[in-house]
Amino acid sequence: MAVINCPSCKKKISDKANACSHCGLSLQALDTDKIANLAKVNRINQAQRLMNYSFIAMLLFCGGFLFMFWDNVEQGTWQYLLAMTSTIIGFILYIVIRIRLLFFKRQK
Ligand SMILES: [Zn+2]
Repeated sequence: MAVINCPSCKKKISDKANACSHCGLSLQALDTDKIANLAKVNRINQAQRLMNYSFIAMLLFCGGFLFMFWDNVEQGTWQYLLAMTSTIIGFILYIVIRIRLLFFKRQK
C-alpha cells in the first residue's frame, strides 16, 4: 500500500482507497484525462488566487499612499503610522506575489 496525493484536494490518501477520505472524490472513476483536467483547473484557480492577492496588495499600497498625501497626515500620528504600514506591507506583498506568479507561470 502506498500513499498518494489526492488529485483534487492534494491531501495524502491511500492508493487503495476507492474515494478520497477528505473531499470525497471518487478515485475509481478517475482516468488520466480527468486527473490532468483536475490539475489544470487547480492551476487556474491558484493563478486566480495569486492575482486576487496581488490586487489586494495593490489596494493596500495605493490606499496607504493616497491617504498619506491627500489628507496631509502629520508625522508621528497613528494615521501616519497606519498609512505608512499599509503602504510598506502592500508594496512588499505585491512584489512577493508578482515573483511567485512569475515562477508559477514558468513551471509546467
Ligand atoms: Zn481529496
